[in-house]
Amino acid sequence: MSLNERVALVTGGSRGIGRAICLRLAELGATVVVNYVSRPDAADETVAIIEKAGGKALTCRFNVADGKEVQAGVKEILANFGQIDILVNNAGITRDGLIAMMKEESWDQVLDTNLKGAYHCIKAVSRSMMKKRWGRIITITSVIGFAGNAGQANYAAAKAGLAGLTRSVARELASRGITANGVAPGYIDTDMTRGLPEAVTEKILSEIPMNSLGTPEDVAGAVAYLASDEARYVTGQFIHVNGGMFMG
Ligand code: NDP
Repeated sequence: MSLNERVALVTGGSRGIGRAICLRLAELGATVVVNYVSRPDAADETVAIIEKAGGKALTCRFNVADGKEVQAGVKEILANFGQIDILVNNAGITRDGLIAMMKEESWDQVLDTNLKGAYHCIKAVSRSMMKKRWGRIITITSVIGFAGNAGQANYAAAKAGLAGLTRSVARELASRGITANGVAPGYIDTDMTRGLPEAVTEKILSEIPMNSLGTPEDVAGAVAYLASDEARYVTGQFIHVNGGMFMG
């Protein structure tokens, strides 16, 4: 599997799952643009790891929830490289709370980042992919978008929305050589899940047939496959990376 000559944009590539995706795509030969919003130190560290391993990467700051920032960021990348072949919609946040108490602000923040953010990014890159008649759009959804979860109505709604967005985009762009797929992780060991109380993690583990949390690298492997030429005929699909927790 080779991604030589490909340019990949990974949103939220500074930490966690996004960083592992950046490292894997770079390892396969892609030039990787590491997007971040608030942690330039972490994004620089991702780039440094890639460069140390002999790969090519650079950072690009924009807030995926802000359409104008996304457009400006994508414009800058296209000016530098002339192409974005692979878009990984990975940036995401949680603002958990039971529905009866959930503030509208928490709903809006999660929907704006996790769902609208992907819309902004797909829209911004699609034209250049269409011109090249090749593209890979890979969106990180979640087991929660398929199964739901108490305390995460906003997050589940955004992730379920991403599934519909992905399938629609897959239908629209298939004839232009562009695929759109999703990867749906279960519980992965990152900053996002490290904050959970121990009792919650124990309960989650009891629901995972493999009895362990996944790693960011587990998710990155599925993304790399979908980004490759080998996945040419796969579109509108979701790969579940969850240790058997949910079998869709
Ligand atoms: P982390 O919290 O570890 O990292 C989040 C990343 O998203 C950071 O790079 C952060 O950038 C970036 N980010 C957040 N908001 C924005 C924004 N508005 N614009 C641009 N970048 C942003 O999360 P994970 O690695 O755990 O999660 C990555 C993705 O995987 C998310 O979509 C999440 O929903 C999904 N997922 C995670 C699971 C898990 O168990 N961890 C399970 C299922 C899905 P910065 O460093 O600058 O803050």
